Amino acid sequence: YTDDAEHVAEKVAELLAEPFTIDGEEINVTASVGIARYPGDGVGSEMLLRNADAALSYAKARGTGRVQMFEPRMNEELLRRLKVEAGLRRALDNGEFEVHFQPRTSVATGKIVGAEALVRWRHPELGVQEPASFMSVAEDTGLIFPMGEVVLRAACEAAVQWSAAGLGDLTVSVNLSPREFRGRSLLPIVGQMLADSGLDARRLQVEITEASLMRDREKAEQVLRGLQAMGVKIALDNFGTGYSSLSNLRRFPVDVIKIDGQFVRAAPREPADAKIVAALAHLACDLGFVVVAEGIETREQLDFVKSCGCDEAQGYLLGRPVSGTAFVDLARSLLK
Ligand code: C2E
Ligand code: MG
Repeated sequence: YTDDAEHVAEKVAELLAEPFTIDGEEINVTASVGIARYPGDGVGSEMLLRNADAALSYAKARGTGRVQMFEPRMNEELLRRLKVEAGLRRALDNGEFEVHFQPRTSVATGKIVGAEALVRWRHPELGVQEPASFMSVAEDTGLIFPMGEVVLRAACEAAVQWSAAGLGDLTVSVNLSPREFRGRSLLPIVGQMLADSGLDARRLQVEITEASLMRDREKAEQVLRGLQAMGVKIALDNFGTGYSSLSNLRRFPVDVIKIDGQFVRAAPREPADAKIVAALAHLACDLGFVVVAEGIETREQLDFVKSCGCDEAQGYLLGRPVSGTAFVDLARSLLK
């Protein structure tokens, strides 16, 4: 019977995945299916439906058009996510989000040129939490929007303070998730934050991944052109891990390519990774992009990316992400 339910569900999903034509327009939909079985997964209709729903959420979270049988651990996962969601709401009310900064240095001179803003959640019981533990819940619930505003505001304000502290006009980069990037009000919010903080737009850089460019390419291009018109710089983050499409580099107004840390870290020793880093760096340099190598932990890795012609370096070797106050001291030591 287990097989039957799964089989029928897969058939339904397959049928719905075929394009429909409505009023001459081709419509593509997908169906996700969650399955709970009597009596193992519940003896009453209420419990069966709730567990089927948990399986459905699980199926959706893992992609479109999936069929998923219920398993008890799904309720635990759902419970964990609900707890994180409640925690995130409280964090927004209580100002528990902090922004840490990690330096970016010039490969040629070793001097600091800017910093990446990285969100941290100072959880009252669990201590400082890194994005991996809450980002996907923030995305799914839309709480990424108010959280992202906190980060953007703090980053702009910090950059203005760095100048006042004698660090010069460092740039600050802020990560935008695909959902934030697609949000309707990104341009006015960025404009507002720049105006409120008084930061020169040319010192702000947004980091997006190629996933942000793939869904609605017209809209993405419009948003990027809007940012460019303001003077904001655009970086393609985690380059090499996603689509790594050359047409993206041509079509969109990108200024900076960040080569993903996983290649950089492996590069000096793994020939395949070394070739990937060298090829990406050379290509990006030739096309006129600023090239940042991420994830540098050793001197050997730094020397390697230097030999590939990378412009900027970021990683634990040069400085870990630190709190706003600690960053001023770190940056000062990297000015010399
Ligand atoms: P990312 O943008 O690729 O950021 C780089 C990540 O690598 C950071 O992790 C950083 O702490 C880590 N890292 C830096 N140097 C090294 C190194 O030498 N070795 C290793 N192993 N790791 C290094 P973190 O802070 O945990 O952030 C993870 C991801 O969460 C970020 O990846 C970014 O996609 C996302 N994120 C962080 N802050 C924000 C934010 O404010 N808004 C949004 N939308 N996303 C954010
Ligand atoms: Mg980044």
